[in-house]
Order: sequence, then structure tokens, then C-alpha cells
Amino acid sequence: KSDPICEHSTLAKQALKETFGYAEFRAGQEAVINAALSGQDTLVLLPTGGGKSLCYQIPALLFNGATVVISPLISLMEDQVSQLQAIGVSAAYINNTVDFARQNAIFNQLADGQLKLLYVAPEKALQFDFIQRLKSLNVCFFAIDEAHCVSHWGHDFRPHYRRLSELKQHFPHCPMMALTATADIATRHDIAHQLGLNAPYIHTGSFDRPNIRYTIEEKFKPLSQLMRYLREQKGQSGIIYCTSRKRVDDISEKLAEAGFNVAAYHAGMSNEQRQFVQKAFARDDINIVVATVAFGMGINKLNVRFVLHYDIPKSIEAYYQETGRAGRDGLAAEAIMYFDPADIGRVKRFFEDIPDEARRKVEEQRFQAMANFAEAQTCRRQILLNYFSEYQREPCGNCDICLNPPKRFDGTLVAQQALSCVYRAQQRFGLGYIVDLLRGANTSRIRDNGHHELSTYGIGKSHSVEYWLSILRQLVHHGLLAQDITQGASLKLTEAARAVLRGEYVLQLAEPRLQAKHVYQDKLA
Ligand code: ADP
Ligand code: ZN
Repeated sequence: KSDPICEHSTLAKQALKETFGYAEFRAGQEAVINAALSGQDTLVLLPTGGGKSLCYQIPALLFNGATVVISPLISLMEDQVSQLQAIGVSAAYINNTVDFARQNAIFNQLADGQLKLLYVAPEKALQFDFIQRLKSLNVCFFAIDEAHCVSHWGHDFRPHYRRLSELKQHFPHCPMMALTATADIATRHDIAHQLGLNAPYIHTGSFDRPNIRYTIEEKFKPLSQLMRYLREQKGQSGIIYCTSRKRVDDISEKLAEAGFNVAAYHAGMSNEQRQFVQKAFARDDINIVVATVAFGMGINKLNVRFVLHYDIPKSIEAYYQETGRAGRDGLAAEAIMYFDPADIGRVKRFFEDIPDEARRKVEEQRFQAMANFAEAQTCRRQILLNYFSEYQREPCGNCDICLNPPKRFDGTLVAQQALSCVYRAQQRFGLGYIVDLLRGANTSRIRDNGHHELSTYGIGKSHSVEYWLSILRQLVHHGLLAQDITQGASLKLTEAARAVLRGEYVLQLAEPRLQAKHVYQDKLA
């Protein structure tokens, strides 16, 4: 008798060609499929668009009984089932939108061996009646899609998912496959453990998304920066992530007023509204969705050309997941983030309200990694992938740092100008005011304070607003200026500033990255 693995391979390859119409497996798919077919539990970690579905769909076709797929979202189930039906695979789904008559019909089909795949919502799959009915049928295999939902380390935690190990207890002889696009190491470990997978075969694909170009832009006047960017996009599909519902409403309104084809999406909207937006976006009736992180898993759209973070996300995991919604078709796509170092302090203050201390520490550490990422001056992709333990030696060539490397210059003179300006204004003012002073702006606040008579008034007028903002932020980073948050974020000199003011050493600064300079033409005039 022939080798069973070899036989599996032949059948799997045949199914790949005949049912799905593909010539070759992608890296890792075949080994996962063979492991499942030989009865082993499996864990599949592949990025979005990596081809996870085939990993359980092909075993489902080859097992002689039915496969139950747990899927967290109605829209995902509907999409999968209609795609399967379109290629002639018998599949159905049961969730709370499916009435009893229809459910009975589905069970009858299962009993007759007519259904290969049944997609089920997790809460349904855990119901006693449902499990009893399944037990009376020939069920061979379970697939848990979006398996990171089992882990409360991840950002899509669903309580029902946590109980899915019960399925393992009811069906001890059926292999289980867990699939996720999460790159989060803590979550990965948690998945196998929570689901009770038994010595699973694990496949981890590369999480690199080479077609996505990562860019971090300094946040100056974000709304103008955004509008300008969107105009360049000429109606391409994109998502703009903001941290609060209010901000989502605000920005989507302003974009709509400016004539963009845009909709808002957040958890404060009704289900109907949200579904409407999601469908309209999928059909390209809406180009741009301004959203909170609530706009997530259900986006089954391949041609999202850009994902823009208006605010810094809470973790690298979240950033990766959200930017990963761009370019699923493999064509060039962009991930842009607007970054204001002052936001770091703002976000950190949110964590103070987390009552559970262990949890708070984890959140803080995760955010710190994100903040470091945003502030770093090395290849973005290298940092991202190294963070996910996928070591990259070479810079990527497709991020803002690689394409437009930060230039260093002797910043002693501009630093002295900025520091003495802060000093002359009695260290009582914040960034914006100091920039106005440096540039000699004619504002009533400056006149009222008599600051137009300071010797430093206007010493920096040959440079733009964003140039000075960038310099001042760097001086804060270098520890030469401290920002006193208790006093309206006023800037104060530190002890270390003395040496720079006396010219005791050469201060290397990064040449400000002025991608947004056109935005300020009004101010510069
Ligand atoms: P994921 O669920 O990992 O986000 P999908 O399963 O939706 O990704 O697959 C993404 C795309 O890649 C789909 O269009 C799928 O048909 C295609 N695909 C998967 N495996 C292969 C393969 N071996 N050869 C060619 N295309 C594939
Ligand atoms: Zn790079």
C-alpha cells in the first residue's frame, strides 16, 4: 500500500488545480494540509492575503465527512461561502441571521453528506443543542478562523472564542486547525494553549508585506496634510484611522465638505449604518472610510491603496494589522502615519486609568515599542519585522527612511537660536509661541507680551514653521529642552542646554523632513 502522506499530497495538489485553479502551493500550504489530513492539529500564521483559507478548504474537500469552520463575522462567512459555491464546493453557514427552517435544511444536507463545509459563528457552535446535533453527524475536522480572537492579548478578543476548546473535548478525534494573521508573539503562544491544540504542526509565514510602503510624517497641520494627500490619491480606496469617535466624525465631516467621497465608521454607529458603509466601501461606492479601530476584520477588500493613521496607534501589533489592510491585491500600497511626539505623553495618560496593574504594564510596554518605532530613524520595515522576531539584515528600500534617508547637519547655530529664544521669553511658552517668536510673527499675543522687542524676535525667519517645530522637538529629544506639561507644555532649558549655548560641542541634528512644506505656503507668505 502506498505511503499515506504521499497519497495526501497527490490528492491535495489535484484539488488545488481542479477546484481552485492554481498550479502551485504557496510556501507552507502543502505541509499544513498534509499535517491536517494525517490527523494532526495545526496552527497557521500567515499575513493577510497569505492564503490561509486554502489551508483548511483543501482538507475539507478531501475528508469524507464535513468540516466545521468557526468564523467571527457574518460578512466573512457570507463571502467565503459564496466564493466556495462559485467554484462548485458545497458550503453553507449558520449564524443568528439564519432561521430555523433553513438551519434544518442545512442539517439535512449534512446528514446526507452533501455539505463539505459549514461555517458557524462561535456562540452558535458552543450551544448544547448544536453540539449534540453535530455529534450525530459525520464531522471530521474543525477550522478556527481569526484564531487570535481567543487571546485577550490581541486586540480582537471575543469571549466565545475562549471557550472553543470545548469543541476539542466533544470531538477528541477530529483534528483542529487554527488560523490567524496576527504577528503578535504573545497572542500566538496563547492561541495553541487556549484552544487546547495537541502538539500542533505550526507554520509561520513571512509577515513582510513588500508592496506596502511605510511612511511616517511629522504632524503639523494634519487636516491640511491629509487633504493634500487625498487630492493626490485621485479617488483611490483608502482608510483613515483615528483614535476617537469624535475625531472620526469631525474629520469625515470636513472631508465631505471639501468634496471627498467619504464615510465614517465607528462603534457608536448602528449596525445597519456600519454594514452600509462596509458594503459601499467594498463596492467602491465610497472611496475613503474614516474609522476607529472598530473598522477591522470584516474588510474583505483587496484594492485598498492606502491606510493612513491620523494618530499614533496603541501598539505595533495594531499598527501592523491596520496597515496590513492596504494592498491585499499585491499591488503597490501605502501606509502613512502622522506623528507628533507630544501625542506620546497624551496616549500614556490614558493607560493610567487601567485598573489591572499587570495589564497596564503590558499596554505601556507595547505602546513604548510603538513610540520608539515612530521616533526611530532606521528602516521602518526592519524594525517592524524584527519586532515580530523575523530578523531582517538589510534595509528594505521601500519606506520613507530608505527612500529619503534623514540627513545630519551641524545644528549648533539653530539650536542656540532656539534655546536663547526660549530663554528670553522667560521659559513660559510652548512650541507654537516659540516658533512664532523665532519667525518674527506679527501676533497680538507677542505684541501684548512686548516680545517683538526681544533680540531673538525674528532671528529664524528664513526657516519655515515646520522646520522650527522639528528642531524644537529634536531639542526636547536630545534633553536640551524639557516640556512642562503642568504648565501648558511650556518649554524650559535643561542643565544640558548650557554647553550648547556656549558652543562647547557640535550638536548633530537631523535635517527636518519637510514633506509637508506645501501645506504651509499660506503661513510662509
Ligand atoms: P488570507 O485568508 O490569508 O487573508 P486568502 O485565503 O483570502 O488569504 O488568500 C488570498 C488570495 O490568495 C486569494 O485570492 C486566494 O485565492 C489566493 N491564493 C491562495 N493560495 C494560492 C495559491 N497556492 N496560488 C495562487 N493563489 C492563491
Ligand atoms: Zn526601509
